[in-house]
Amino acid sequence: MDDCIFCKIIRNEIPNITIYEDDDIKAFFDISQVTPGHTLVVPKKHVENIFEYDEDLAQKVFKKIPMLARAIKASNKDIIGMNICQNNGEIAYQSVMHSHVHLVPRYSSDDDFS
Ligand code: ADP
Repeated sequence: MDDCIFCKIIRNEIPNITIYEDDDIKAFFDISQVTPGHTLVVPKKHVENIFEYDEDLAQKVFKKIPMLARAIKASNKDIIGMNICQNNGEIAYQSVMHSHVHLVPRYSSDDDFS
């Protein structure tokens, strides 16, 4: 997709901080970090959201999430939890229409446990 911002990141046409990449996915820092280390995991194949996944793509993307979560957690001893979420459709607050998974580390210093 020529005008998709995440496709441009996948092609390294715009700046990004990538922490992992393979043939199928790319994981890079969110430009607006909810907490330090906030990472987005995207399939390299352009699909808009979960409704366009087949089982093969789901396996390629989601099987890597635990490994990436552990790697992010291992990067800082103060990370004691993580929110993992995915928004699908504008009504669900998806703003970039290239499917992605948010990994948001949570720190021992976070004061909001609600
Ligand atoms: P929301 O904006 O409600 O979080 P999404 O789930 O679609 O909706 O998340 C899109 C995410 O993409 C946002 O967290 C945003 O900060 C991030 N983002 C937008 N542009 C870039 C970019 N160029 N590089 C990295 N992250 C980006």
